[in-house]
Amino acid sequence: MEKLQEKMFQEIDDKSIFKQTQEYSFEYLNTVFDRNVYPKEKALQNLEVFDEKFPVTSTNATEVIEQLNTYGSPATVATLGGRYFGFVCGSALPVGLAAKNLGTFWDQAPAMNVLSPIGSKLEAVVEKWLIDIFNLPEDTGAGFVSGTSAANLCGLAAARYRILQRNNWDINKKGLRNSHEIKIVTSVQTHSTVKKAIGILGLGTDNIHFVNVDDQGRIIADEIPELDQNTIVILQAGNVNSGAFDDFETICKNAKKANAWIHVDGAFGLWAGAVEKLKKLTKGMELATSWAVDGHKTLNTPYDCGIILCADKEAITAALHMSGSYIIESTQRDGMFFTPEMSRRARIIELWAILKYLGKKGVDEMVLTMHYRAKQFADEIVKLNGFYVENDVVFNQVLVRCETDEITEETLKNIQELRECWLGGSIWFDKKVMRVSICSWATTSKDITIAVKSFKKALSITTKTN
Ligand SMILES: *Cc1c(COP(=O)(O)O)cnc(C)c1O
Repeated sequence: MEKLQEKMFQEIDDKSIFKQTQEYSFEYLNTVFDRNVYPKEKALQNLEVFDEKFPVTSTNATEVIEQLNTYGSPATVATLGGRYFGFVCGSALPVGLAAKNLGTFWDQAPAMNVLSPIGSKLEAVVEKWLIDIFNLPEDTGAGFVSGTSAANLCGLAAARYRILQRNNWDINKKGLRNSHEIKIVTSVQTHSTVKKAIGILGLGTDNIHFVNVDDQGRIIADEIPELDQNTIVILQAGNVNSGAFDDFETICKNAKKANAWIHVDGAFGLWAGAVEKLKKLTKGMELATSWAVDGHKTLNTPYDCGIILCADKEAITAALHMSGSYIIESTQRDGMFFTPEMSRRARIIELWAILKYLGKKGVDEMVLTMHYRAKQFADEIVKLNGFYVENDVVFNQVLVRCETDEITEETLKNIQELRECWLGGSIWFDKKVMRVSICSWATTSKDITIAVKSFKKALSITTKTN
């Protein structure tokens, strides 16, 4: 046992594994922007080296890192680069990677102030900054979670707590059985993580009142049923396919009058509210009660960074409260009262670093550039024969299709196999589409042109083989 401890101290003294890792990191950064976006076949096959039985004896640390670099690096997807358009992802800013790296060595868990004064301080500061960025009510509380899936869960847990509490029912103590009915209203195109949260919270997806959407995927305000104080209305800032925004101004005003809880899923789209030229898209969203947003998409923090913002601070901290004889509550911020977890990593470090680095003007410039690149993509692709853009490009999403579903599908497969860019497919009003999401600080005008060329090449392969 002591031998192993000695070995570990030796690794600290010697520093070689850290230097080795740093070198590999730089190598990775130097190539990731130009290399194949999706791993090559050989790299995928080589992942077999990880299929080994749990080792009996300790392995040399150098060897461990070496294996990761040799076989892991080539099998990564270059989401960090400028030509990854899959799902709705986001790269990571250099300053974010650097800050995260430093934070890794600190290894902080900002559950309580006493456990990490620096983590707690940065969370308190960023909470204020976010209120400022999105123009939210002054006393809004922020929980720093793994992503918008978790943020949606927290926001809806706070809503559930508040609505039942108004009916003299403590959900934490009494549970859901025999409690007052909670009405949930959202669009037929609500994100699946919203449904997941409703499922986890025991509210039941069968109980959702689904409202139709218009041709851009926006909830139809006129079709929203009568709302009351026992209702949760869930709106979208950024439809996951089209990037469209619900009409917050109309809907929030009415919902607020009815005293309903309004939750906004703004995973990537809420950031439009931070851009002078785009903030008309989110107008009125500040009237909502809770907002879920990602750092790791549009803002380009490293992965594992989402935020729940809640204007009803008491509801969220009551819904997520915990206690124990060993807990030391501070007069300052104790992060765990805003999140489902007790221990979690201090993702706030890189979130703070990126916001500090960019400032208001930097966020504005970066996010607006993503929008312009999306417009550029749409403009260039429709000039090619055989491609159609299916949505109004109001933000960062472009939905592209070919003449038929079969051609769209085949062409998408060819694009993926070319590996010059990567994107996935979706269904848009019964038609197959290719979904292009521009979410990376690193996407240049040239990247768009390369991607468009790749689309053209892919379509010609489709037509040749058929
Ligand atoms: C990505 C996304 C989510 C889920 O967010 P994660 O960070 O992946 O957990 C929820 N809603 C929308 C609209 C999204 O785009």
